[in-house]
Amino acid sequence: MRVEITEFIFDDDEQAAITEAMSAKKPWYHASVKDVRRRIKDFHLRMTADTCCYCQRDLRGEFTLVIDVEHVLPSSLYKPQTFQMWNLSASCKRCNMDIKKNDVSFLQGSGSLKDSARYKLAHPNFDDVEDHLLRLVEQVGRTRIVKYVKRTRDKGHYTYEYFRLRELETSSYDEAQGANRTDPDHVGNFESMRSRVDALLVSIDKD
Ligand SMILES: [Zn+2]
Repeated sequence: MRVEITEFIFDDDEQAAITEAMSAKKPWYHASVKDVRRRIKDFHLRMTADTCCYCQRDLRGEFTLVIDVEHVLPSSLYKPQTFQMWNLSASCKRCNMDIKKNDVSFLQGSGSLKDSARYKLAHPNFDDVEDHLLRLVEQVGRTRIVKYVKRTRDKGHYTYEYFRLRELETSSYDEAQGANRTDPDHVGNFESMRSRVDALLVSIDKD
């Protein structure tokens, strides 16, 4: 069953811990909200089904420090939104720390920050991310094919470019094939993987 963000409610103790933290310079890292941070992360991982909210890579089983609570609007610039659940999600380090950092160039227009139209990227809470972008993976052992399907010309395309998702794709025969390209079993495996990917690509609606 799909998890909805409205299911998450801070209890009185958590609310008090957040109030205390908000008076600090960096409220997110304040000691009073250690348990709150943990619960927020667990909840958002359920919302994204253990995938990164941007690149959709699998985070299941990852050591918790590898997974970030992502502030879509960075807390350094949008302090009041630090503990707003609609502004939070779960992401990998590559998307959060290597690429997005404190950038807000994906924000546009004016008006409510809770409006999907304000965000050029597929917003983890205001958009159905999979309507815009799909990560497609076929993997057998070390051999894998990874492709991103941009389903929309605006948010799908933007998210793909913004997070440099091309770098995560292995699409060519040589890239996916690795050192085993002369092994007939391996070549056969790869060919059937490729036909499954091709069939999936055909079945996906694009804008
Ligand atoms: Zn990611």
